[in-house]
Amino acid sequence: MIKLHDKYFKPFISAKQIDEAMQRLALQIAEDIGDEIPVFVGILNGSFMVVSDFVKKYPNPCEVTFIKLASYEGVKSTEDIQRLIGLTQDLTDRTVIILEDIIDTGNTLHEVYRIFKNEQVKSLKIATLFHKPEAYKKDFKLHYVGIEIPNKFIVGYGLDYDGLGRNLPEVYQIKETQYMTNLVLFGPPGAGKGTQANFLKEKYNLVHISTGDVFRYNIKNETALGMLAKSYIDKGELVPDQVTIDMLEAEVEKNTTAKGFIFDGFPRTNAQADALDALMDSKDSQINAMIALEVDDEILVERLLGRGKTSGRPDDADESIIRNRIKEYYDKTAILKDYYTAQDKYFGVDGVGSIDDITLRLSSVIDNLQYEFGN
Ligand code: AMP
Repeated sequence: MIKLHDKYFKPFISAKQIDEAMQRLALQIAEDIGDEIPVFVGILNGSFMVVSDFVKKYPNPCEVTFIKLASYEGVKSTEDIQRLIGLTQDLTDRTVIILEDIIDTGNTLHEVYRIFKNEQVKSLKIATLFHKPEAYKKDFKLHYVGIEIPNKFIVGYGLDYDGLGRNLPEVYQIKETQYMTNLVLFGPPGAGKGTQANFLKEKYNLVHISTGDVFRYNIKNETALGMLAKSYIDKGELVPDQVTIDMLEAEVEKNTTAKGFIFDGFPRTNAQADALDALMDSKDSQINAMIALEVDDEILVERLLGRGKTSGRPDDADESIIRNRIKEYYDKTAILKDYYTAQDKYFGVDGVGSIDDITLRLSSVIDNLQYEFGN
């Protein structure tokens, strides 16, 4: 992810994909034109990269020139396109190919046709690396199109956002949602995730989703989901992935304006972690960190038996079920430490001490994250 001015952009089209598209365009055009020497006309500023790479790939002799039209100001396509600068060359009876970086509304193209109306060219053809069919409002034929893209604002490879981004060798797409802080709070049962999540959600204005709480709510209300989950939960086993993933997605979707989430008790398997990454990606966001509370097993058993006396949770009342939950955690869930470590997102925090001290330890991890992302 990159930041240009106030906006975030995510990778969209790689340098390799661009190179392949450019190669296709060059060969296709060369084949159509044959022996004739064409004049390639780039429209500045955006097309400088396209033209430079294109002519290097063009296998036959050719001429190159540029014209300049002011086009984009910031994110919106400006309606009134300014006057043409350049075109000093006589193009009478020449085969002219306009080389564009992107054609979206087609306004620039309209201007190009107006300008070329009085030139006695032999033929005028249009080639563009990118085309946004959904945004295109004109009838002019586009003779050569490299890559069709959805109607999203892009930068890189000559295209800019308010002056920045033209130098990037690949193309990035604007992020629709603003930056969120998404945390996975991790740790064995009894580590204090729920207690700490309650403090952190207030402090950082995040939505706390505990899959265990959602299951218990459903069991209490005797929903179909609750009935299904109960048989697993009562034994201290994990509820099947698809059931849990569907439920979590529904919880996330309920909070459309959230500034971020604390996931507590989720993910517990690799499949859940993959599903969570995909869900965050679909929101143009990501998991920023897994923060794990580290607590010794015997302290956990002691804490959970203590909680069982008042919580009414059947899975907290029985030592063998408690030990099974801790075992499930280490057997199935602790592998997620590797999953997030591989992404450089794992932070272990000592979960033994006073509640306040542990909140402070967690906060310092989160504050560092926010600093890193420039929030
Ligand atoms: P917790 O309150 O997080 O300790 O969760 C209590 C129980 O709910 C667990 O022992 C599981 O049976 C079930 N559960 C909670 N979260 C998940 C999950 N992500 N995947 C599968 N089962 C879960």
